[in-house]
Amino acid sequence: MDFDLPADDDPYRLTVRQWLSQHPAPSGRELAEAGYVVPHWPEPYGLEASPMHQLIIDEELARAGVTRPNNAIGIGWAGPTILTAGSEDQKNRYLPGIVSGEEIWCQMFSEPEAGSDLAALATRAERDGDEYVINGSKVWTSGGHHSAFGILIARTDPDAPKHRGISYFVCPTNVAGLTMQPIIDMTTAYSFNQVFFDNVRLPVENRIGREGDGWRLAKTTLSNERVQLSSAGSLWGSGPSAEHLLDLVRQSVDTSDPLVRQQLARLYCEAEVLRLGRLRVLSATLAGKTPGAESSVQKIMADEHGQHVMETAASIVGAQAMLTGAGPTGELPAEARTGVTEVNIDRRLFPDVDPIWHYGFLFSPALSIGGGTFAVQRNIIAEQVLGLPREPNLQKGMTWSETTRVGNPSRS
Ligand SMILES: Cc1cc2nc3c(=O)[nH]c(=O)nc-3n(C[C@H](O)[C@H](O)[C@H](O)COP(=O)(O)OP(=O)(O)OC[C@H]3O[C@@H](n4cnc5c(N)ncnc54)[C@H](O)[C@@H]3O)c2cc1C
Repeated sequence: MDFDLPADDDPYRLTVRQWLSQHPAPSGRELAEAGYVVPHWPEPYGLEASPMHQLIIDEELARAGVTRPNNAIGIGWAGPTILTAGSEDQKNRYLPGIVSGEEIWCQMFSEPEAGSDLAALATRAERDGDEYVINGSKVWTSGGHHSAFGILIARTDPDAPKHRGISYFVCPTNVAGLTMQPIIDMTTAYSFNQVFFDNVRLPVENRIGREGDGWRLAKTTLSNERVQLSSAGSLWGSGPSAEHLLDLVRQSVDTSDPLVRQQLARLYCEAEVLRLGRLRVLSATLAGKTPGAESSVQKIMADEHGQHVMETAASIVGAQAMLTGAGPTGELPAEARTGVTEVNIDRRLFPDVDPIWHYGFLFSPALSIGGGTFAVQRNIIAEQVLGLPREPNLQKGMTWSETTRVGNPSRS
């Protein structure tokens, strides 16, 4: 690590501390107005904070036990896109509610026939005067049922090359013609939806950016991500980490068993490599450099590690782990629950167990699908980091499902 965190008497730190002493339990709106939700954004939403200042704010909020509004898609995706490509009216209308968490957003990108190959999407947006008429369906829309708006990409020009005929819209979830069907996932949580558009009419003012520029906008995200300090949790940076599990195991399990020791040693090593990787990315960011291959490799390793943490937790409990509500016993600190909102367990049936491990075990396979599957992430590393050629059939313009049907020479 080639940087030092500012000391306790750093003036910037003292300013944040003073604000927190005046606002010991700030609302989302108060945090937003102070610029502490998205400090790296420009004013009036953020403070144009340097990475070091972001770190100080993160540290001070964590120290005071203050959490930011939980609006991951609004703050991580919709907001940065509107900030970059939205009109002044769109910024004024949407950004305050996004940052304060008063309006939750969802992402309407994936379709039943377009996931990894997202540009193959078929949902149509046809121009009709001052409106677009939307028809089609989106799937795996996380949190759609809690959301006021969705970011929607749809095909405005079916004759253009597939990446160029797509436009980007803001779609209210209460608009006429839009219906949502719940999808219950295998944790038993209701976290996803399938969304149907039946002649949904959106005013032209709901389009972000130029018509046909939706694909480029859909990719506007990573460069806007906040410096992540607290991403040690094993479920996409949330939930309990390997360290939490190791603490519980030390308290309650016979650690002389060589197999248990081997599993724990593997988790420890993975967690340590990930921690050092995070510091390298941070160090590069603080030095004003763009992190390179580290961030792509980090995403794959963190997802696999999350699965290993949850598998180890289940295997330590043994066969009983197959029962709903089983998991390692012992107290978990509050931060191990941050961001885990969908734990559906019947406390009347399971008053004593901590549902987080059972939920985490059942959720963890999703880590290697959401946000780009393992295979797709490896393709990105192969092509964009290692400079290897694309798969031969994909080079010929075939889709992935076509290549699997004809057989792919690179895999045989
Ligand atoms: C927890 C979770 C939350 C999600 N939330 C949202 C959301 O809010 N909004 C949203 O729009 N979507 C969401 N998704 C959907 C997610 O983006 C897609 O599931 C993902 O992009 C994969 O698409 P798919 O499911 O259609 O699988 P497919 O793309 O059909 O993939 C099927 C299999 O083929 C493999 N494959 C595909 N292409 C290639 C290739 N070129 N090379 C090698 N292998 C390949 C994949 O790795 C996978 O194993 C979410 C998914 C999860 C798991």
